[in-house]
Amino acid sequence: MSLVVQKYGGSSVADAAAIRRVAARVVDTVRAGNDVVVTVSAMGDTTDELIDLANEVTTAPDPREMDILLTAGERISMALLAMAINSAGIPAQAFTGPQAGVITTEHHGRARIIDVAPGRLQRALSQGRVAIVAGFQGLNQETQDVTTLGRGGSDTTAVALAAALGADVCEIYTDVDGVFTADPRIVPAARKLTRITYEEMLDLAASGAKVLMPRCVEYARRFNVPVHVRSSFSGLEGTWVTDGTEEGDDMEDPIIAGVAHDRSEAKITVTGVPDVPGSAARLFEAVARADVNIDMIVQNVSATNTGVTDISFTLPQASIPAAIAAIEGDHEGIGYAALATDDTIGKISLVGAGMRSNSGVSAKFFAALRDAGVNIEMITTSDIRISVVTRDADLEKGVKAVHTAFDLDSTEGEAVVYGGTGR
Ligand code: ADP
Ligand code: ASP
Ligand code: MG
Repeated sequence: MSLVVQKYGGSSVADAAAIRRVAARVVDTVRAGNDVVVTVSAMGDTTDELIDLANEVTTAPDPREMDILLTAGERISMALLAMAINSAGIPAQAFTGPQAGVITTEHHGRARIIDVAPGRLQRALSQGRVAIVAGFQGLNQETQDVTTLGRGGSDTTAVALAAALGADVCEIYTDVDGVFTADPRIVPAARKLTRITYEEMLDLAASGAKVLMPRCVEYARRFNVPVHVRSSFSGLEGTWVTDGTEEGDDMEDPIIAGVAHDRSEAKITVTGVPDVPGSAARLFEAVARADVNIDMIVQNVSATNTGVTDISFTLPQASIPAAIAAIEGDHEGIGYAALATDDTIGKISLVGAGMRSNSGVSAKFFAALRDAGVNIEMITTSDIRISVVTRDADLEKGVKAVHTAFDLDSTEGEAVVYGGTGR
């Protein structure tokens, strides 16, 4: 008998019919002789709608109350799924994140799982029940407050439960057939990968491929949990995310795993910064005090004899107000002339472990963007990734051009997107 952890995303539980369809799949998995623990996201776009509602009530929702509000989304879907499975004749019990023993840090809206104490889930399994767990949430033990794990956090709940229970597999059910070489919503010619390593998946996820939350991939890699990303709408085999050392696997790795895009960042440019030791430190110390995560940084060479330079960096759009306030708060100390914000940027990233041992990848990437008429504003690289910032309006064109240039386009028809609004 195997222990299977399944996670169903928002589009897979969007309405009553979808919940009954998911219940049937869970029942089939149980009837096939498995112990099953299921974690669910909130129905459809519920989380976004709850955030919109909070923003209608106040411009600055309190983070603690916000988490109480958002965790309600997953409580609805977990209870409905447990009811649907029960009525199909298999006993099931729903548990909130705190009831399931998910212990987190105190950071509301972006808490990290520090431990899972799955006693109640194990008891339910030993009584022959399916355990349904609300994703995306946990409990901070010091404050006894409920927390949320950040957008897409149910993926991390699933992997954390799989690790704590020693599950044989963690299945992530979503609205596409697996992990593709690019987002099928913007590249219909994207190809489904049969397998991908944790390392490459982590870079794709961190570069905006929201099919898996980056922290979920980190967690899976740390505890070596095999993750199977697949569609809840089709019976097809999906993509296996593993450490890449499976037995009998002697296939040569492709150079490129995929292309990711991200529209969630913005750029701040600080002009007229004194070109002396310590300026960048002072600027980024101010930003760090505001708890803002920055991504790319570019400092221009100072024009001759001016003694000043410009520094640009990218950050999540939601962090703009905090970053601006922090920099303005140390205007004299940093000594800059002016600040400008630009939230119409996009980021395109090419990811592949084969970049380490293949020259010419960057040249081909830049040439594809040039031929598509896409201007590059910033560049960063790691050993398995190249990312560029472009105009948001050029993003789709750029992603498609790069996908084609690296021969990633499928010859087997268009990728299917079964549901979801892409929100
Ligand atoms: P869920 O609600 O199931 O968690 P998400 O919307 O969070 O689903 O993630 C699935 C979506 O991720 C897909 O519908 C697709 O648009 C997007 N996506 C982005 N990049 C990729 C990729 N490389 N492969 C597959 N899907 C991707
Ligand atoms: N419902 C949460 C979100 O929309 C968590 C998740 O879906 O994984 O981000
Ligand atoms: Mg998701």
